[in-house]
Amino acid sequence: MSDDYLARLNPEQRAAVEAVDGPLLVLAGAGTGKTRVLTTRFAHILKTGRAQPWQVLAVTFTNKAAREMRERVSAIIGAPADGLWLGTFHALCAKMLRRHAEAAGLTSSFTILDTDDQTRLLKQVMEAERIDPKRWPPQAVMGQIQRWKDRGLTPARVPPGDAGDLAGGRALALYQGYQQRLLDINAADFGDLLLHVTELLRARPEILEQYHRQFRYILVDEYQDTNQVQYQWLRLLAQARKNICCVGDDDQSIYSWRGAEVENILRFEADFPGAKIVKLESNYRSTAPILATASHLIAHNEGRLGKTLRTGRNDATGDRVKVFSLWDSVEEARTVGEQIEQAQREGISLNEMAVLVRAGFQTRAFEERLIVLGVPYRVVGGLRFYERAEIRDAMAYLRLVHQPADDLAFERIVNTPRRGIGEGALASMHMAAREQRIPLMAAAMGITPTLKPKPRAALTELFHGYDRWRAMIDTHGHVRTAETVLEECGYIDMLKADKSPEAPGRLDNLKELTRAMGEFESLAGFLDHTALVMENNEEAGAERVSLMTLHGSKGLEFDVVFLPGWEEGVFPNQRSLDETGGKGLEEERRLAYVGITRGRKRVIISHAANRQIYGNWSAAVPSRFLDELPEAHVEREGATRARVTDGPSVFTGYNPLAARRPRVIDAPGWEVATRPAPTSKMSKGQRVFHQKFGYGIITGVDDNRLDIDFEKAGQKRVMDSFVELA
Ligand code: ATP
Ligand code: MG
Repeated sequence: MSDDYLARLNPEQRAAVEAVDGPLLVLAGAGTGKTRVLTTRFAHILKTGRAQPWQVLAVTFTNKAAREMRERVSAIIGAPADGLWLGTFHALCAKMLRRHAEAAGLTSSFTILDTDDQTRLLKQVMEAERIDPKRWPPQAVMGQIQRWKDRGLTPARVPPGDAGDLAGGRALALYQGYQQRLLDINAADFGDLLLHVTELLRARPEILEQYHRQFRYILVDEYQDTNQVQYQWLRLLAQARKNICCVGDDDQSIYSWRGAEVENILRFEADFPGAKIVKLESNYRSTAPILATASHLIAHNEGRLGKTLRTGRNDATGDRVKVFSLWDSVEEARTVGEQIEQAQREGISLNEMAVLVRAGFQTRAFEERLIVLGVPYRVVGGLRFYERAEIRDAMAYLRLVHQPADDLAFERIVNTPRRGIGEGALASMHMAAREQRIPLMAAAMGITPTLKPKPRAALTELFHGYDRWRAMIDTHGHVRTAETVLEECGYIDMLKADKSPEAPGRLDNLKELTRAMGEFESLAGFLDHTALVMENNEEAGAERVSLMTLHGSKGLEFDVVFLPGWEEGVFPNQRSLDETGGKGLEEERRLAYVGITRGRKRVIISHAANRQIYGNWSAAVPSRFLDELPEAHVEREGATRARVTDGPSVFTGYNPLAARRPRVIDAPGWEVATRPAPTSKMSKGQRVFHQKFGYGIITGVDDNRLDIDFEKAGQKRVMDSFVELA
C-alpha cells in the first residue's frame, strides 16, 4: 500500500491525520490545510482498514465542498468513493430521517418544504388561531420558530415565556400547531431535518446505538459555523466512540446570523476530555503580501483566540494587494474587467478568478461588464441578476407598461402580489383571450366585473395603475415611473412585510434595477438591453469567472480574487451594524478576512467614490477596512474625488452617510472632477450594424453606450459591443 498521500503533509498535518483515535480539534487559520487534513484523514482511515467507506461520517459546509471532498478521497484511495456518508448537515440528516421517518411521525416519502410553502402553512395555522397577520407578520413568527429549531428546541422543550409577547404571547402555540400541520401533510421544513433526527437520537436509544455501531469515525469541516442543534447532533453521535475530528477557524465564523456559535470550538475540550488540539501555522495558499494583509486586518478584532500564521509556500513573494479607488460603479466594473483580461493574458484561467461581493445586488454591474467584454461567468450559489425572481417580476410589470399585449408578463404579475385571482378566474381570462383574439390583459379587463369583490377591486386598481404609469413615462421619465410602478403595485410592500432573511436582499436588487435603468435613455432601450443580456447564454464547459457572495466563498480558493464595493454601508454592511453593533462589525471584518484569504496570487480590492441612487449622485465613504490594511503590503492606485452632489448628499438607499463623516481619499477638498473620457472606439456619424435593429447612424456616444438612429427601428441606445461598423 502506498502512503504517498502522507508525504504531501507537513509534520503537524501528518500528526493530525495519524492521530485517528480519540477526539481531535484542528484549530488553524485560513489556507493552512485543514480541509486537506480532513480529506487525507478520511483516506487514511480507509487505507489502513480501520473502517469501510460507509462507516465514516463526514460533514462539509456546502454541497460543492462535499463533491470536492468525494473527488479528493477517491483520488487518494484510487477508487470511486461510493456509499459515503459525506455531505452537509442537512443532506446527512435528510438521509437519516428518510430511514426513520415513521419514528418521527412521517413516512419515508415526506416532502421537504421550501420557504414559500412554510410561510403559507404557518399563515393557515395563524388564521385558525385568529392571530392578526398585520400585527404579527407570519415571517416574524417563522423567524422565531427557526431560531428555536436552530437551538434544538422542540415545542415541548421551549422554556416558558421564551418568545415574549410575540403573536400576543402565543408564539409557542403557533409553533405547536405548525409542527402538527407539517406532520399532517407528511412534510418537514429545513430546520426539521436536524431537529427531528436529533430528537430521535435522544429519545430512541436503539436508533442512536445503531449509528454508534455504524459510524466509527466522524469528521467535521468548518466547525466554527455549527449552530446548537448541529452541535447536539454531533455530540450524540460521537459520544460512544469519541473518534471525532473537527477542523475550524474562529476568525472565519461568519454565520452567527443563522445561529452559529463559535463557542462550540471553545467547548470542545470540555466536552471531550483528553481531546488533542493541533494547531497548523503554515499557510500554503496565499503569497506573503496577501497573508500579511489578511492577518493585519483581522488583528483589529478583539474577540478572537489569536493564532500565528506564516507562509508555507516557497514562492511566497508576490504582488502587493492592490487597492483601487475609483470614480463610480461603472469605472469599478470596467477596472475589474480590465484586470480579468490582464490576468487572462498572463495565462491564468478564468476558472481561477472570482469576484466576491458582500450582497447579491452587487453582481449586476460586473455581469453587464463581463457580457460586454464577452467574458464567460457564472454566479455561484445564486442566479444571474436578471434571472432572479424579483427582477423578473419587476421586469414583467415594466414590460406591460411598454407593451400591454405582453401576455407572459401579465400572467406573471396578475397575482403577484396576491390579488385573490384563482385558477378559475385565470382560466376564464385565457378563454376570453383566445375566443376574442385579444391580449390577456384586455381579456382580464373584460371579465373583471364578473369576479368576486376582492379580486375585482384589486384588478381594477391594477388597470388604473397602468393608465397612470403609461402616462407618467413622458412626464417623469422611465426611472421615476419604474419606482412608482413598484411602489403602487404593492410589490415593495409585499417585500417589506416579508421578514425572511432573503427579503432585504430582494429589495436591494430592485433598487439596483432602477439604478441600472438610469443608464438608459428610455424604457424601451432598457428592455431591449435586458433582452440581449438574457440571450447571452454561455456555452457549457467553457472556462468562467465566478461571481459570488463572500459567504458563499468559504473554503474555496482562486488565483485572482476581486473584492469590490468596499464602502461604508455596503461593507461593512449597515444592516449588520445596526442589528448587532460591535459584534456585527467584528463579523463583517471576519468576512473581509475570509475574502482576502481566498486569493492565491493576487487580491484586488476596490471602492467607488460615487454611487448613483435614484438618479442622483452621492459620495460613497470608503470602507473603514481600507484603513486597516498594512501599507507595506498594499499598493493603492487612483486618487478619487467625490462628485459634488446637486442636493444634500443623503442616501435614501443602503449607504448611510450618517455613520461616518465623508472622507475623500487624496483630495484636499470637495471638488468637481470630470468623468473619465469616453472609452468607446465608435464615434458620431459612423454607420453601424446591430444584430437586432439592423443598420443605423451613430448620433451620440456616452461612454460605451451609443445613441443610434436606426433605419428601421428608430432611435435607440445600445451598448457598443453589440454593434459593428457597417
Ligand atoms: P480554509 O480555512 O480557507 O478552509 P484550509 O485550512 O481548509 O483553508 P486547505 O484548503 O486544506 O486549507 O489548503 C489550502 C491550500 O494549500 C490548498 O490548495 C491545499 O492543497 C494546499 N496545501 C495544504 N497543505 C499543504 C502542504 N502540506 N503542502 C503543500 N500544499 C498544501
Ligand atoms: Mg477548508
